[in-house]
Order: sequence, then structure tokens, then C-alpha cells
Amino acid sequence: MRIFSGIQPTGRKHLGNYLGAITQYVSGQDRGEALFCVVDLHALTVAYEPAVLRESVYDTAAILLAAGLDPERCIFFRQSDVMEHPELTWLLSSVTSFGELSRMTQFKDKAGSQRDLVSAGLFFYPVLMAADVLAYRANEVPVGDDQRQHVELMRDVAVRFNGRFGETLVVPEVRIPKVGARIMDLQTPEKKMSTTGGTPQGTVLVLDQPDTIVKKFRSAVTDSGSEVRRAPDKPGVSNLIDILAAVRGVDPEQVESEFDGSGYGAFKQAVADAVVDYLTPVRERYQELRGDEAGLESTLAEGAEKARVIAAETLTDVRRAMGVGPVR
Ligand code: ATP
Ligand code: MG
Repeated sequence: MRIFSGIQPTGRKHLGNYLGAITQYVSGQDRGEALFCVVDLHALTVAYEPAVLRESVYDTAAILLAAGLDPERCIFFRQSDVMEHPELTWLLSSVTSFGELSRMTQFKDKAGSQRDLVSAGLFFYPVLMAADVLAYRANEVPVGDDQRQHVELMRDVAVRFNGRFGETLVVPEVRIPKVGARIMDLQTPEKKMSTTGGTPQGTVLVLDQPDTIVKKFRSAVTDSGSEVRRAPDKPGVSNLIDILAAVRGVDPEQVESEFDGSGYGAFKQAVADAVVDYLTPVRERYQELRGDEAGLESTLAEGAEKARVIAAETLTDVRRAMGVGPVR
């Protein structure tokens, strides 16, 4: 059983990333052979600063290690260190259709919010993501709900590849958490919390100080009622219920019955306190780890070496099946 997932080093990581993805990475280490990757090549698809990108890779790596990724129990690396990812991207492009890529909602959303250049890379993003996973013949991909469509696409790509060139790739399953798969922005709860697209006040960062976290939750948008209950017309309150349930590891119904009749003020404070308690140890461990860039660099380099061995094997099979390069 092999597990693979990637996370972008864009900006700083937020509570949605933590609850939707990172907690699943940590538990995945106990369930199979797990590979996790800081996907810096994906970050090139929107406007960015080269010097900031390099720093952000270390920031993101330190957050993941602080959250509990253990390089002894998983393969943890930087995407751009393994050249098989871009190579396989190109090879898979021959079995990916233009029409499919045009239908990807992430592309449409992000293309719409670019101020100047909409890069071809943004359009090609799902092919690179397919290559990330398929290069390792992963069985399972833990992601948040917004990545469901991209995993569906990579499954179609793998099936099409196998049909056209013979059984070579593993068709992966998506793994989305029951609670916390889609954390919404606290200020605009109809939109997902996002590294690049959300409001600053509505995005709770993993590294935010406790007083900042409390302020963000206190000013979270709710509705004019007072009932702590999930409903389609109560996106703000529903989101806060999901957050508290995910942080505590309980069902949302339990949160609803506990806060039945307590009013929004007290409820928001309780969510804020729970999130502060939840993230404080992570922030503290992060501070220790982030100081040692050489240590982070060698952790990533060791991971890349292990990843390369697996990916190179897949690429040999893919090239052979496709008739690319000399006979091996
Ligand atoms: P961007 O908005 O620029 O794409 P992001 O916030 O989505 O950035 P990613 O690195 O693309 O960050 O996503 C990393 C993981 O976090 C993915 O598995 C994604 O599904 C998950 N994720 C992202 N946002 C949320 C969210 N609001 N709730 C739950 N999971 C999320
Ligand atoms: Mg994303």
C-alpha cells in the first residue's frame, strides 16, 4: 500500500491545509509506504519571486516536520529534485486531452484571478500532478476536497495510458477526510480557505500567533441568527462547527449539541481557544526546525534520493511501453 501527496510552498500554510491534508499525511505514515513532496514546480504556475520560493520550500518543509512527518517513516522530498516528475508530465501529456484540462475548475478559478500572465503551466498543472502520483504507482492520494477533480483526471490518464500502451501504471484512489476536507475562508465562507486566493483576515495560518488567531475567529462572518447548527444558508457557522469538530476529532453533531443555545460569541471563543491549543505545539516545533536550513536541506536531499529510485523504475517501464529511447 503506497501513499503519495504533495503540498505547494506558495505563501504560508493555513488551517485548511492542516486539517484537509497535513493531518492525513501524518496518519498515512502508519498505514503504508508514504511519500510526501513539497511541490515547488507547481508553485511556478502563478506569479512568484524566486528568492521567496526558495525560502518558502524551507518554511513548508519545517511545518510538515513540525506537524509530525518523520523522515524515518516516510519519504519526504522536494519535487524539483526528482527530474522524473517533469519527464513523466510530458509523456503523460500524450494521453491527456485538451478538453479535460479545459474543464478543471481550479484552472478556471486561478486563471480568472491572475492579474497579467495566465501561464501555460497553470493549464498543465493537473498533468504535473498526475505525474507526481503515477511516478510512484501510489494506491492512495490524501488531499482536501478541492483536489477531487484532479485525482479523477489522473485516474482517467492512468486508465487511458494502460489501455493504449499496456498495463503499466497504478490507478490511484482519492482519500478525503470525513471532517475538515473543505475549510472555508472565515470572512467569505462561500470560498475555500486558500494560500493564494483568500482574504488575509479570513485565513488562519498555522504559524499565526495566538492573539492573531483569536482576532480572526472573533471577526469571523456568521449569519444574523444565533443557533450553532449546520445549514446551507449558514456557511460561516457551519464552517466553524467543522473546524472545531476536526480539531477535536469528533463528529460535527457532537459540537452542535454541546453548543446548543450558547450563542455565537461564546462559540467563536471556544473555537479560537481550541485552534490555539491545537497549533501552538506545531508553531513551537517549527521555530526549532526552521532555524536549521542545512538540516532541512539534507533531509530533503536524502528523501529525493529514495524517491528517485522508485520513480526511475516507473519511468523505465513507461518509456519502454511508449517506444521512447533505446530498447532496455
Ligand atoms: P492554492 O489556493 O494556491 O492552490 P492551497 O491553499 O490550495 O493553495 P495547496 O498546496 O494547493 O494549498 O494544497 C495542499 C493541500 O491542502 C491539498 O491537498 C488541498 O486539497 C488541501 N487544501 C487546500 N485548501 C484547503 C481547504 N480550504 N480545506 C481543506 N483542505 C485544503
Ligand atoms: Mg491548492
